[in-house]
Amino acid sequence: HAQDRVFNFAAGPATLPEKVLLRAQSELYNWGGSGMSVMEMSHRGKEFLSIIQKAESDLRTLLQIPPEYSVLFLQGGATTQFAAVPLNLCSPDDAVDYIVTGSWGDKAAKEAQKYCKPNVIWSGKSEKYTKVPSFGDLQQNPGSRYLHICANETIHGVEYKEYPVPQSGVLVADMSSNFCSKPVDVSKFGVIYAGVQKNVGPSGVTIVIIRKDLIGNAQGLTPVMLDFKIHDDNNSLYNTPPCYGIYMCGLVFEHLLEQGGLVEVEKNNKKKAEILYSTIDESKGFYKCPVEKSVRSLMNVPFTLEKSELEGEFVKEAAKEKMVQLKGHRSVGGIRASIYNAMPLAGVEKLVAFMKDFQAKHA
Ligand code: PLP
Repeated sequence: HAQDRVFNFAAGPATLPEKVLLRAQSELYNWGGSGMSVMEMSHRGKEFLSIIQKAESDLRTLLQIPPEYSVLFLQGGATTQFAAVPLNLCSPDDAVDYIVTGSWGDKAAKEAQKYCKPNVIWSGKSEKYTKVPSFGDLQQNPGSRYLHICANETIHGVEYKEYPVPQSGVLVADMSSNFCSKPVDVSKFGVIYAGVQKNVGPSGVTIVIIRKDLIGNAQGLTPVMLDFKIHDDNNSLYNTPPCYGIYMCGLVFEHLLEQGGLVEVEKNNKKKAEILYSTIDESKGFYKCPVEKSVRSLMNVPFTLEKSELEGEFVKEAAKEKMVQLKGHRSVGGIRASIYNAMPLAGVEKLVAFMKDFQAKHA
């Protein structure tokens, strides 16, 4: 029953569209008259092939992915891509550049140290990850094979609104936490990768969108499961893929297209973020978001309470009203409201009403 569901503000795995869950429920037992659940199908059978092909084609439509890019449905989470990207894009002696605007970019840069020569050309750490750099000040290393960014830092709530143009190599982006939340000009990137468990599906699927000419140069020691060429040559079916998760992503892509595509999706996301940030900014300091206004994330909204001793009570009281998972990441504390595509406007409206009440009670 819909009334039994909570508003789930988790950073991921995260809430999915109710309509999609109900459709999956209706198809769980017998998909498309096949007499099987998607979980029971051979990944090489015609039924699953139709599912993965439609998922790819709908994603291509949503993001207007140019034909010179491949779409791969992989496993291992975005964390595996922290290794796969350098393994596929450079040799051990190659320089590559990282901009670090939060914990995830930091992890990506550290993992790359095992496989090439990464340089962190800008880090927001000393300012507690509240900014992105001004692009004019960036100086890439000569011969660098790529420039890596994290498009949306899930923990710190810092999101690029525009992207730097690399001086050397291609732009690579971890889009895990803002994938399909707005239109993106894919042609500006060499590689986009994303774990899907925030905006587009259940955990267990990682999507990689890569310009085809970058495929086929993996380092010799690259495990077969991390070699983009193997997966590209086999249409993501080299081994058993996460079939059910891919099916769920396909349902979400269909749902996003029905909503009018990513232009409409972004409009909704902007509206939700706007009412939440303005509640914070108009609270006279009772709530505070540390992130510079121009790069505040539409997806993850971190904030603190002036009276930090009230944060535990805030989370507890909100949960009583069926608004859950509002505790900030353990590394930064405070509160974090993740408001991905599938968070309804009503959920954010309920949260801001609660915040105003809570403030009135404790001011
Ligand atoms: N990158 C970003 C931006 C994330 O938010 C996360 C997970 O929350 C990761 C990478 C790691 O993803 P995974 O857990 O799928 O490996």
